[in-house]
Amino acid sequence: MSSFLSYVNPTADSPWGTYLAQVDRVIPYLGHLGRWVGMLKCPKRALIVDVPIELDNGTVAHFEGYRVQHSLTRGPGKGGVRFHPDVTLEEVMALAAWMSIKNAAVNLPFGGAKGGIRVDPKLLSRHELEKLTRRYTSEIGIIIGPQQDIPAPDVNTNAQIMAWMMDTYSMNVGATATGVVTGKPLHLGGSLGRIKATGRGVFVTGREAARRISLDLDDARVAVQGFGNVGSAAAELFAQAGAKIVAAQDHSGTICNANGFDLAELIPHVKATGGVAGFMGGEAMANEEFWDVPCEIMIPAALEGQLTADRARRLKARLVLEGANGPTTTGADDILTDRGVLVVPDVICNAGGVTVSYFEWVQDFSSFFWTEDEINVRLDKIMVGALKNIWETADRHKVSLRTATFAVACERILQARDARGLYP
Ligand code: GLU
Repeated sequence: MSSFLSYVNPTADSPWGTYLAQVDRVIPYLGHLGRWVGMLKCPKRALIVDVPIELDNGTVAHFEGYRVQHSLTRGPGKGGVRFHPDVTLEEVMALAAWMSIKNAAVNLPFGGAKGGIRVDPKLLSRHELEKLTRRYTSEIGIIIGPQQDIPAPDVNTNAQIMAWMMDTYSMNVGATATGVVTGKPLHLGGSLGRIKATGRGVFVTGREAARRISLDLDDARVAVQGFGNVGSAAAELFAQAGAKIVAAQDHSGTICNANGFDLAELIPHVKATGGVAGFMGGEAMANEEFWDVPCEIMIPAALEGQLTADRARRLKARLVLEGANGPTTTGADDILTDRGVLVVPDVICNAGGVTVSYFEWVQDFSSFFWTEDEINVRLDKIMVGALKNIWETADRHKVSLRTATFAVACERILQARDARGLYP
């Protein structure tokens, strides 16, 4: 159906294949809007760019970059940019589509977009990274802008990279445009609370879901995959609520401690060494055993496709909180549903980041900045309200929270499409 499919090769468990299966499941609930479903199955626009940079040793290296605008139906494109050696067009298409769903699920006035460069940023010097970021921004400058499409941080990108993107775009258009990216440094129109917002949203939706299934957070055991920005912030909030973080895994290895880690020591260790491996306050364990760890809550907060069917069968948790985008394969999702494990899907669970990105964008436009307390209170209210609506939809249709989130979001997107019609 989609002409884009000839450019990628999705499989059942690949990101775009997973996304398409998720959309197919909501068609029965879309009623007359179902005739527009093809709009969700094909990105509006995908830009592939060559990013050449002169390396410190004088040679010229080429990297492939992307910016995909999946949907602009409800507003400008919005979504992060990731720098990772495994980035592909197919992955960025799925990540952009999940942004459309996520933004609509929390009712932000945005479409969905995503970008990425296939690069291992750890192999670049700071100067090379800056050149890469600036050239990429110039190349995608033809489709981004404060009212067109607003990038933000994602895997391996941060406030400094957003500052370079903002500066490059601003220099190219000849005016300071703070609203072109979010997740910027505070002194450049960034928002308080943005860095920890995704982790906070994971905690808020997790807290609400736990309450609804009568899971007491006090002494609950939590396992976290990915101890970056999202995983570590969520872990801190769960620990503050009385839970124990009993296992953590990242690219460096896996550690466990049945009594719970001391996060005041683990988080500085990860910052200093780049990973959880070697932490003295826990024991090393084999990577695959992570999925067998006795726990009540599992937080996959790393990359796509981590929670496979085999791992879903072994999982001990009662509650899965998807801090990452697309961590669960369709087969695993069905196994978890059959086993009665509740999954709070990515498209609502990790929406806290883009929600505070929206606050940042609004603050930049109004040139009026809010306190951290105002931001956290507003974030809490939006996440709790969105989850309540999704929960009621799931009860009404007797479907999983994922299908309910897609039903709510797809209905909003397609209602907008139906009202706008096609032009030309
Ligand atoms: N990269 C984050 C996400 O996947 C945030 C995107 C944004 O703030 O625009 O939701």
